Amino acid sequence: MPNRQTNHSGHTVHVDLKDRSYPIYIGQGLLEKAELLHRHIPGTQVLVVTNETVAPLYLERVCAALAGFDLGRVILPDGEQHKTLETTTRIYDALIDQGFNRSATLVGLGGGVVGDITGFVAATYQRGVHFIQIPTTLLALVDSAVGGKTGVNHPRGKNMIGAFHQPRCVLADTATLSTLPEREFRAGIAEIIKYGLIQDYAFFQWLERQLAQVLARDPAALMYIIEQSCRNKAYVVAADERESGQRALLNLGHTFGHAIETATGYREWLHGEAVAVGMCMAAHLSASMGWMTAKAFERTEALIQAAGLPVLPPPLSPGALRKLMAIDKKATGGRLRLVLLEGIGSAVVTEAFDDQALTATLEHFTA
Ligand code: NAD
Ligand code: MG
Repeated sequence: MPNRQTNHSGHTVHVDLKDRSYPIYIGQGLLEKAELLHRHIPGTQVLVVTNETVAPLYLERVCAALAGFDLGRVILPDGEQHKTLETTTRIYDALIDQGFNRSATLVGLGGGVVGDITGFVAATYQRGVHFIQIPTTLLALVDSAVGGKTGVNHPRGKNMIGAFHQPRCVLADTATLSTLPEREFRAGIAEIIKYGLIQDYAFFQWLERQLAQVLARDPAALMYIIEQSCRNKAYVVAADERESGQRALLNLGHTFGHAIETATGYREWLHGEAVAVGMCMAAHLSASMGWMTAKAFERTEALIQAAGLPVLPPPLSPGALRKLMAIDKKATGGRLRLVLLEGIGSAVVTEAFDDQALTATLEHFTA
């Protein structure tokens, strides 16, 4: 796992990617720590991109930290439905109107939607400019801001247009979570439990013990889960930046989850909620084939439920779910590939599961 360092009022996790390596600064009140940002801005031009919900909360603080730079700002409408090429045009327009050149830095201030859009524009404006992530949702802090996947949706598919573009740093200010709606907060916990399930049994056990503190947003608990999650993600990304193998483990619960999201039109269910159910289903299937114990499945389901996340899909037939899961199959070409568990803390990407057991799991969850 990457090293831990304490050099500001928090911790630093390093993402080790040779010449594209970068730090994730984690701490409370980091938005005010101007020097952390300044050391990662090579030029004089900075464009901050955020949305209309986050702007009134945090934009002024970030702009104050960036005083002295040739500063621009773009405030996007809020929502996944705006994660489109059309929205990127507004950012390209602002960059061109303000005469921004190849030494410019884009700062994405917000959740995963703002981060993905801003990163994509940074990857493509004049063939690539500098990029900094300032995540403000739990999901963005522990997942989307780390790892360099950027992109937008196409009307026919989510994240269909994108690029790998690593940020120069991630500024993870845990204080921004104080304003996050409860449902969004819990959705982020799903991806945190995921790290425990795929490769970090000790973290899973810690979550079992300390969940109440996490849900109460205790500052020390938040620091710990964010640092531990970033370390886990950094470890996977460093091993497999472009997802030719191991990085696919991060998709635990996602094939089931995408089926739920597609069935419900990406509106009723948050991504983390769908992934939560998906992880229960993956654990159930794993246990039913004897890859892990029934007890391990029960612990998985219990932790997810205790986090206030759903453990059952919406009313759907097993056949409908399976059909929707096949969309992911098309993406990989060939047989359906799933991330399954060989115990809590150990996942595999595999096509070698028992198809009848999958049918039984789908029936169990949709009965
Ligand atoms: P989001 O960006 O839509 O944010 C959720 C809501 O919270 C929004 O309404 C937002 O305006 C609001 N918000 C953000 N910060 C806030 C704060 N501090 N206080 C109050 N409200 C706040 O959703 P998300 O869950 O952060 O991200 C989801 C997106 O991330 C999806 O588009 C998904 O595809 C993407 N994603 C990308 C990666 C990746 O590796 N790049 C990984 C996972 C998810
Ligand atoms: Mg996810």
